[in-house]
Amino acid sequence: MPNSILPLWINGQRTESRSSRRAGVTNPATGAVIRQVPLASRDDVTNAIEAAKAAFPAWRETTPLRRSRILNKFRELLETHRAELAQLASEEHGKTLEDATGSVQRGIEVVEFAVGAPHLLKGEHAENVGRGVDCHSMLQPIGVCAGITPFNFPAMVPMWMFPLAIACGNTFVLKPSEKVPSCSLRMAELFKEAGLPDGVFNVVPGDKEAVDTLLSHPDVRAISFVGSTPVAKYIYETAAHHGKRVQALGGAKNHAVVLPDAALDFTADAIMGAAYGSAGERCMAISTVVAVGNIADALVARLKEKAEKLVVGPGDRKGVDMGPVISAQHRDKIVGLIDSGVAQGATLVTDGRGIHVPGFENGYFVGPTLFDHVSTEMDIYREEIFGPVLIVLRVASYDEAIKLVNSNPYANGTAIFTSSGAAARRFQHEIEVGMVGINVPIPVPMAFFSFGGWKSSLFGDLHMHGMEGVYFYTRTKAITSRWPEQSDLSASTLVMPTLG
Ligand code: NAD
Repeated sequence: MPNSILPLWINGQRTESRSSRRAGVTNPATGAVIRQVPLASRDDVTNAIEAAKAAFPAWRETTPLRRSRILNKFRELLETHRAELAQLASEEHGKTLEDATGSVQRGIEVVEFAVGAPHLLKGEHAENVGRGVDCHSMLQPIGVCAGITPFNFPAMVPMWMFPLAIACGNTFVLKPSEKVPSCSLRMAELFKEAGLPDGVFNVVPGDKEAVDTLLSHPDVRAISFVGSTPVAKYIYETAAHHGKRVQALGGAKNHAVVLPDAALDFTADAIMGAAYGSAGERCMAISTVVAVGNIADALVARLKEKAEKLVVGPGDRKGVDMGPVISAQHRDKIVGLIDSGVAQGATLVTDGRGIHVPGFENGYFVGPTLFDHVSTEMDIYREEIFGPVLIVLRVASYDEAIKLVNSNPYANGTAIFTSSGAAARRFQHEIEVGMVGINVPIPVPMAFFSFGGWKSSLFGDLHMHGMEGVYFYTRTKAITSRWPEQSDLSASTLVMPTLG
């Protein structure tokens, strides 16, 4: 129904937006508007924050065990509805159904981690820190937390945030990308079905107006953001200015360093999936190959052969490897960058411009594109393309490769391909990047580790999920206690107390 209008989800129910502003949600394979999404107004978002604030006292007092049982039921419902969520993600984003299913599963794994709340929220305890004095720490929730998410993982990235925040005893307002709102709204319904009290989780699709309301509202205590670097920086600075805790994950330019001793076919296959999966619209996509020494010619030949075999088409069609990109505007930006690569002197090995997908002439397709002989001054190296464009830089030595990766302002993920343990060990030690793969092309940490980059790929201190996620969504209180016997009571002293 192209004109059906999605609701907001406030206080446990579908709620009509007060905003007259709307956006069309498009199927990128056809270019057709499939539904309308309201762009939440300041009043809408304020209502959601108030609902979350009202729900906080009772949710905070709900025992971690009880919270965990609701999360476990939510996990079961997500498993039951995995195909439906994957279908929604594929329809609104364009990625293949298989890829969408995998990403929904990675999100469910964060819920699985959050189910461990009773264990995760245990503090520390030390007996006899002084004579007759004990000390313990507690992890307490912080209040209303908010999440702002990008278009490229409609279910998974929201699940990096709200399940753990809620497991820790907080309440939550999620502002999903206006391009892919449906998964978040469906997950809110499933969470209610799992027994979540009204107001604990709220969803307000919208744009900058909704974001700015969250960033400045005094009752929002913490902001989690995932998106592009310029917006991440804005979110970090604005939310911090308003006294909030912030984790803002930004864009990326991920390098795969290929040493001459790498297993050639294995490496080329691994890079294929990492470069062109999800049409390159992954923050952990490998977009840059750094070929060291004499492996470059053979590697580029293998990459070309494999890239040209990839099947491009609508994400819900069997046998398709790569779907469209998110919008006409984004397709045009990618094509413009490919044009710039040619103009600036890179060798275009495989050209994905002007691809024709029969029956889908209005879809936003870009075919797999491969550049060789790229240099660091070119725009295709300096900018995050976020599309199916893989570039190869050739360097003479391993030292040069490490220096090149460490000089890049982004530092989300990287990988090395080698059969040398010593080279791999040097890489993990010296490389200045947040997530590192050794013969693993997309080193996304499992839910019980934390996800996040360094430098311009992350503004803030704590990464998402894993223990860093628990620390982000709680604050620590340390309690020092003494229960003196009558005989131990002594007079007060003005001297700085020392224990021990
Ligand atoms: P984006 O920055 O355009 O949007 C992200 C969110 O911010 C959306 O909810 C959007 O509505 C909102 N937003 C956009 N412009 C805004 C503004 N001026 N003020 C306030 N809010 C604004 O990102 P996108 O295009 O949706 O997603 C792609 C980007 O996300 C890429 O750069 C990609 O690398 C990055 N990303 C990073 C990670 C990571 O973990 N580091 C993961 C996924 C995506």
